[in-house]
Amino acid sequence: MTVETWTPAHAPATVDALPKRDTWLSIRRGLTGRCPHCGEGKLFGRYLKVVDRCAACGETYSHHRADDLPPYLTIIIVGHLVIPAVLWTEQAFSPADWVQMAVWVPVTLILTLLMLQPIKGGVVGLQWANYMHGFHPSGPDDADPTYVPNPEGSRGG
Ligand SMILES: [Zn+2]
Repeated sequence: MTVETWTPAHAPATVDALPKRDTWLSIRRGLTGRCPHCGEGKLFGRYLKVVDRCAACGETYSHHRADDLPPYLTIIIVGHLVIPAVLWTEQAFSPADWVQMAVWVPVTLILTLLMLQPIKGGVVGLQWANYMHGFHPSGPDDADPTYVPNPEGSRGG
């Protein structure tokens, strides 16, 4: 007697079954504002607006979900650069408070605005390389093969 397991033809592939993507290469391409897939097309149409589709290779980016991770990482990095500098300046020179504010508020703003786009690009590259969210061939929210969308017609509560 043979036991056969039935697998639907449209069953979502697990990430392990998909072609491997170089995570660090994808992140580096995203950090430089390039398409994580081909490295040629631009990833951003405007400052923080990710293009819907790569002009060079056609990879779709409209379903990325960088969400709050880029600002979160930016805050951590800028904070770890600016706060020690403020403390060192205070201990070394003891400048007036208005001098500290006049220097460090603009420095914080400029660093934040400079880092936000590359970090967002890196996050999109990370998601693309790992088939996260909409980058999975089965589409958004179906990356988990055990995921059953809305089985009882409601999400409870
Ligand atoms: Zn591309």
